[in-house]
Amino acid sequence: MGLIRSWVESANQAEGQFPLNNLPCGVFSVAGDEPRCGVAIGDFVLDVAGLEEAGLLVLDGGPLLDVPFWNDVMEAGPEVWASLRARLGKMLHEGSALRAEVEPCLVPLSDATLHMPFLVAEYTDFYAGRNHAFNVGSMFRGPENALPPNWLHIPIGYNGRASSVVVSGTPVRRPWGQVKGPDHALPSFQPSRRFDLELEMGAVVGCASEGMVSVAEADAMIFGYVLLNDWSARDIQAWEYQPLGPFQAKATATTISPWIVMKAALEPFRVSTPDREVPLLPHLQEMGPMLYDIALEVALQPEGGAETVLSRTNYAEMYYSAAQQLAHHTTSGCPMTVGDLLGSGTVSGPTKDSRGSLLELSWGGKEPVEITGGRRSFLEDGDTLTLRGHAQGAGYRIGFGDCAGRVLAAHKDPVGAGR
Ligand code: CA
Repeated sequence: MGLIRSWVESANQAEGQFPLNNLPCGVFSVAGDEPRCGVAIGDFVLDVAGLEEAGLLVLDGGPLLDVPFWNDVMEAGPEVWASLRARLGKMLHEGSALRAEVEPCLVPLSDATLHMPFLVAEYTDFYAGRNHAFNVGSMFRGPENALPPNWLHIPIGYNGRASSVVVSGTPVRRPWGQVKGPDHALPSFQPSRRFDLELEMGAVVGCASEGMVSVAEADAMIFGYVLLNDWSARDIQAWEYQPLGPFQAKATATTISPWIVMKAALEPFRVSTPDREVPLLPHLQEMGPMLYDIALEVALQPEGGAETVLSRTNYAEMYYSAAQQLAHHTTSGCPMTVGDLLGSGTVSGPTKDSRGSLLELSWGGKEPVEITGGRRSFLEDGDTLTLRGHAQGAGYRIGFGDCAGRVLAAHKDPVGAGR
């Protein structure tokens, strides 16, 4: 399938992010008005809440878009998701008879402030990139023990914090934490000196579950995908993570892109997970391709400086799909909720320039990365990190919008800790 042409001319550009094929879901406001649901098309946000108010968009018989989040639409289920796309496709298609009615609901993206697109019910972060797991394991435990013995059998993860998931553009303050002291000295409490990013994708769960679901059922439960930066304090992580895994090192913030790209927009880009190195048990096997070919990059811009792309990789590098992760999550009987967010794990490719964290790019700080006007082992105050991603179709792209955040200096001695 090629580009679906729209009467919104800016939606027909080959390298634009928001063609009619995409229709990603966000929440926006203009000039201090209340935030409302919108869909990106070309250089505009389509005010779908306004369309609903005007009676032009009726979903599931009731208002679903008059709230500043997409959870109500998700909860209405996959048939409603499909009818939303069909209706918007009809409105925005080149030559649509509805143009005159719809056009007043277009707001220039440049006038819009973007907000969190959904209420994050709970947040789970996985560790499903083989290159990332091998690299980090090699640094922390040596190359012989790099992959934990369970790694090729289950998608391992930890329960993160929904409360600190923020939308692109939100500044992120360098955390304080307890870090290991030298040799037998006491640990110290200080601002993190090894603050890092993790380039990930996030899957947004759109259907609730009770009890265990299959991988195919899990795939059907996913509403869409976002870009995700799992900010990580490596010095805090190294001290705290044994034996229960990451805790405060990952709790500061998780930044997501402002647009949820619906799974339907990504259908043409499905790819299989890589060949299994050992067979998976039946309950985790994929029945079809459930990963996506999505080109990803992360760029760093120092305060007042020029941007450098740190890494380019692809979501297809993951060893486990979000559907496998979600199915695994339910094996315990754990109910999944509308608005659950699943982090993929850091997406690192096989080469040095495709690693998805500074920990790997600088190899634990031993090989600082050259950037325009300097070098980095870890993040410095004032650095802005921007994740970008797109799926490349024939003559069009499916984009997510930038997923950006700037590092603010740590608070000074927040609880008199330095005394
Ligand atoms: Ca992570």
